[in-house]
Amino acid sequence: MPLEINQFPCLSDNYGFLIRDRKTGAVATVDTPDPDAINAELKKAGWRLTHIFNTHHHWDHAGGNLALKDKWNCEIVGPKGEAARIPGLDRAVGEGDIVMLGDSKARVHDTPGHTLGHIIYHFADDGAAFVGDTIFAMGCGRLFEGTPAQMWSSLSKIADLPAATKLYCAHEYTQANAAFALSVDPENDALRARSNEVDRLRAQGVPTVPTTVALERSTNPFLRAEDNALQAALGMTGANPVEVFAETRRRKDRF
Ligand code: ZN
Ligand code: FE
Repeated sequence: MPLEINQFPCLSDNYGFLIRDRKTGAVATVDTPDPDAINAELKKAGWRLTHIFNTHHHWDHAGGNLALKDKWNCEIVGPKGEAARIPGLDRAVGEGDIVMLGDSKARVHDTPGHTLGHIIYHFADDGAAFVGDTIFAMGCGRLFEGTPAQMWSSLSKIADLPAATKLYCAHEYTQANAAFALSVDPENDALRARSNEVDRLRAQGVPTVPTTVALERSTNPFLRAEDNALQAALGMTGANPVEVFAETRRRKDRF
């Protein structure tokens, strides 16, 4: 039975995600951007929180852990690589570990780059991955802790998930990301079409998350470091993909 996924805005541009295993009623929040907003959604749905799945240690992802644990006595699962920085952590996990939410199964992948311990949760049977601040629609997380080589390898893991996989990114950054993407990949028809569609959706206040692996492969410049047109636009034809990725990320930081 598929997971139920409830997505709602938190803080200024985060998304909250409550996920429920229909068979057992187990409920997790992916990260804890805003405990009040999360509690309000739980109340509205009539759900009881059993788990917190953290992706990384930033305050807008783990800052609400203790308030929620106090109220619900839920189990906190989070990244092994930054265990000391995850408040209330009960279980530290990393690459290849399996996390169960009732009968629903997620596989954990390490995706260092934005932070060194960042992890994502892939529910293969549901075609859903909770990717935190590793990948965004047409963008990727800033490299606060990791190297371009680490982030390129992390993004490549996401690009290698099945094409239909839905990617639940933690922020609504899509419109700004599209503007940047067009600046480095202006001849990409799929990107131009998507950018127009995103403008239309945002004008109506519609979320552009989740995205999919297929959409990101065709439009996200941070996954396209091996693409000839993107390399040419950067003046880097034939360059190593890690260098192309690094240059793309540098340009985005200044955009
Ligand atoms: Zn972050
Ligand atoms: Fe964040």
